[in-house]
Amino acid sequence: MAVKRVLHYGEESLREPSKEVHKVSKKISDLIRDLFDTMYAQNGVGLAAPQIGVNLRVFVVDASTKDDPMDPMVFINPKIIKKSGAVKSTEGCLSFPEAYTDVVRYKDILVKATNEHGKQFVMEVKDGTLLARCIQHENDHLDGILFIDHCLNRFEAEEVLQKHNLPSIEPDKLLDEEELKSQIC
Ligand code: ZN
Repeated sequence: MAVKRVLHYGEESLREPSKEVHKVSKKISDLIRDLFDTMYAQNGVGLAAPQIGVNLRVFVVDASTKDDPMDPMVFINPKIIKKSGAVKSTEGCLSFPEAYTDVVRYKDILVKATNEHGKQFVMEVKDGTLLARCIQHENDHLDGILFIDHCLNRFEAEEVLQKHNLPSIEPDKLLDEEELKSQIC
């Protein structure tokens, strides 16, 4: 168990696609523990393996609020198999300290993954809840996609990055989501 250093925007691992996990070995169990230790130490709601420099398809989430009991969830080799609707969301990321900007996310998702015991599960998350948005955010990390690639206003996002001494937007990484954006209600 260890609190790891969280990589910051600009560091290479964050843009690298991650590899599938073939077996929930001790190495993976240790990785999961490190992810939770690091996420809770930073008061995050989610953390993906590439953020601690490990390019494997694993992320953890705990979207409980301070009045709820803890709700740790593990996603190994996740796949978002259905998505619909659109929602505007103000997001941040532990790899972008104190930088927040508006992004667009799907409202409802159906995600399939393997848990920490090696069991497959399917989970439906609706209504653009924190959990729904968080799963999409963390899942993106496994493909080297970052939340600013979804930004609603490029100029505002650029300003926020600059203010927090982070590297600029990478224009070639910006996602074409005009259709999704037009569905935000
Ligand atoms: Zn993130």
